Amino acid sequence: MRDEYKVEHYPSTITPTAERANSGFGRTPLKLGRGSLTHVETDAQVYLQPIMSLGTYAATRNNWGRAMLLKPLAWAIWGAPLAVLVMVEPSPAVAEVRIFACEPEWAALASEIGGDAVSVYAGTHGRQDPHYIRMRPSLIEHVRRADVLFCTGAGLEDGWLPVLLQLGASASLQHGQPGHLIASEHVRLLDPPSVVDRRPRHVHAEGNPHVQLLPENIGYMASELARRLVVIDPENTETYRQQLSAFQERWRGASAGWMERSSRLAGMPVVAYHESWAYLYEWTGIRQAAAIERLPGVPPTVSHLQEVLELARSAGARAILRAPYEPTKGMEWLSDRAGIPIVELPFTVGGLEGVDNLFDLFDVTLALLEEVHDQY
Ligand SMILES: [Zn+2]
Repeated sequence: MRDEYKVEHYPSTITPTAERANSGFGRTPLKLGRGSLTHVETDAQVYLQPIMSLGTYAATRNNWGRAMLLKPLAWAIWGAPLAVLVMVEPSPAVAEVRIFACEPEWAALASEIGGDAVSVYAGTHGRQDPHYIRMRPSLIEHVRRADVLFCTGAGLEDGWLPVLLQLGASASLQHGQPGHLIASEHVRLLDPPSVVDRRPRHVHAEGNPHVQLLPENIGYMASELARRLVVIDPENTETYRQQLSAFQERWRGASAGWMERSSRLAGMPVVAYHESWAYLYEWTGIRQAAAIERLPGVPPTVSHLQEVLELARSAGARAILRAPYEPTKGMEWLSDRAGIPIVELPFTVGGLEGVDNLFDLFDVTLALLEEVHDQY
């Protein structure tokens, strides 16, 4: 299985304009409005956001009275200090393309490829469970202003993204447009549903959506994002070309290093709470002896935990892998009885302190797994 994952399969160049004409996300390059808002958020704007969003939220609920009251109120409270701030601070460079990323890994990738030509907003942070995000007004506000939507798909955002698109997104963000970029439509999904296995799947109904932990997938999505950005913002074509090329070169180099480091982890048995790490196992060769959840999204019962304990013991599992938001209760029970540690891995950018970009994500994940391998 490991041999399939060479790190140089994805393109590091952008498809030339002529070949893009029938490229699958719409034949007509969009003319998108730009420049009416500043794209770089100041701290003051961050503070303002909840109040402004309440106005928008009230408006979406047809409560125009509250909306009309809340927005002026927000400006009355925060507007004056903001005005001073704007006058005193040198104006930031105006970014051209606004990217709304559903998860932190795509936000991080968008920053790498877009650089100063884009502004990026992440709809969720690294310590949130991406399966269960509560809709909030600020999400609507950000998606309404976005030129590009960059999400995982495969059902991961089913609980909130469809509503968000309905309430906030322009036509250019809808499916089929270059501004609608869904990772699971561009990479191979593990654990796809089969006709043989008809068990209820709950949160992984379309296959495993946690694609960000395979380095190759990041490479593919970097190329695809650059291809979209060139269509949406042709004036910055050269910038995107250069940034993609520089990123892919660094990414290939780093990926080769990670592959090499991972070789001694091959075969190491672990237990996980959820099927969070399938893509990590694909290239490291780490083997999952059991999952604490009965099925993806279904918490364990006492009898299931007992089975997991037996599987962990017979496989000689070395650790219980935990994403930062996963509940510890079943893990602690298992950890005590099996005598193995709970090891928190970052899962995405921002999942652990010091994991500030995609390179950190893989560096830190591998370092923690190497520690498990060497110490337990
Ligand atoms: Zn999941």
